[in-house]
Amino acid sequence: MKVKAYPSNEDNKKIIFKIEIENEDNISPSSKYSLNKKEFYFKLPEGVLFEQIHPDHLALVSLLACHPFIGKRIIFPKKVSKKFFDAHKIVTKYIIDEFDENLVPWIPPSESRVALAYSGGADSTAALALLPKNTVSIFLDRPLPLLKRTLYDKDAPVNACKKLIQNGYEVLMVESNIEYVRNPVGFPVDVANSAPAILMASQMQFDAISFGTIIEAAYRVGHKEFSDYITRAHFKHWGSLFNAAGLPFLQVVAGISEVGTAIINSKSKIGIFAHSCMRGKWMKPCKNCWKCFRKLLLDSVINKKPLSETSINKLFKIKEAKINLSKFPIRHENVLAYSTAKYIELYNLVPNDENLMSLLSKRVRGDIISVNWMEKYYPPMFNLFPEKYKKHVKEKLEKYLLPMSEEEESIISNWSLKKMLNDSYYKNLNDIFIERLSKH
Ligand SMILES: [Zn+2]
Repeated sequence: MKVKAYPSNEDNKKIIFKIEIENEDNISPSSKYSLNKKEFYFKLPEGVLFEQIHPDHLALVSLLACHPFIGKRIIFPKKVSKKFFDAHKIVTKYIIDEFDENLVPWIPPSESRVALAYSGGADSTAALALLPKNTVSIFLDRPLPLLKRTLYDKDAPVNACKKLIQNGYEVLMVESNIEYVRNPVGFPVDVANSAPAILMASQMQFDAISFGTIIEAAYRVGHKEFSDYITRAHFKHWGSLFNAAGLPFLQVVAGISEVGTAIINSKSKIGIFAHSCMRGKWMKPCKNCWKCFRKLLLDSVINKKPLSETSINKLFKIKEAKINLSKFPIRHENVLAYSTAKYIELYNLVPNDENLMSLLSKRVRGDIISVNWMEKYYPPMFNLFPEKYKKHVKEKLEKYLLPMSEEEESIISNWSLKKMLNDSYYKNLNDIFIERLSKH
């Protein structure tokens, strides 16, 4: 695969990337997605010049867009540094064609700052609350298709950006159609949401890139089995490449559960601007999607405001929620164990098999597993950090959350759903729950 990059002739803020396929490339690497658009762009702020973007940064963005589709080799827009070339050796699937031995890797000056891949959602808003105030939040503004109907609505994140700016934060919105490289639309690699930050890094002087990656995603808690993020292929591969490009990961919420980010947002000044729903309007979530189901339930227990019986009934009627709740296991089901257990406890619900809340709680083991650890942070997360930011983030974090005890840490490292998934009691409970849900 060959990737070319150049500034647009018509729009001086636009940088265009063009993908050229070679025989060995794999345009459908999975039944779930395939390569779609072979051209993508970024509309960068005034003053960011194409010529000043470091070749390693052009290469990193090319990889973020193309990685799943590369067959044997990739040729970048410009030759990369030896440091970047070497960091890529961990990948065996394909090679980087060549490097420039005279190219100095990008080394950020000491007064550089953090760029946050900001989505406007709960997790990246909590991340911003933990980062230095001079962090630049960068929202990747996906253009909406002109002809096709979409449920995605930008009203809420756009307003969140404006509110942050009014509150003294530096926020940039960068239009890019990088998500259209893939069909269905989405990031070809999860950290591709940081592509605008990477392109601006040398001119805006960034020395780390932060994401809203929470413990459920980083350490696979709530999934089938715990996996130490520091040893996972994602961190080793992408973490090393970002590092070689002078932009190490700063995963400030990697040791924090979705429950923890909700607590941070309930306490921080900017938490109120967070929104999870991709479909509703500013301060008006759609209340009809899976994210709304999880968020409304979680916020109800965090903010100690019970939902009315009608609201609960409506929640369990959400079509998308029914589909997701019928899965075994349910995605991030530890969070549902927390929400349902706390809901029953706080509002004195009588646990019985007649109400869906109790049934769901039993299904996700909210009645038996400990859930209070989700209100705390996992201290090994600091092992992932660049030294420069450890102290600052820890001090800020401890204003909101306590560290987990050793015993609680072992709940994380021993997390596994395997036994439950093979247990006939839970299989049966799952059938009963699905049956009840379908009739609701
Ligand atoms: Zn929604």
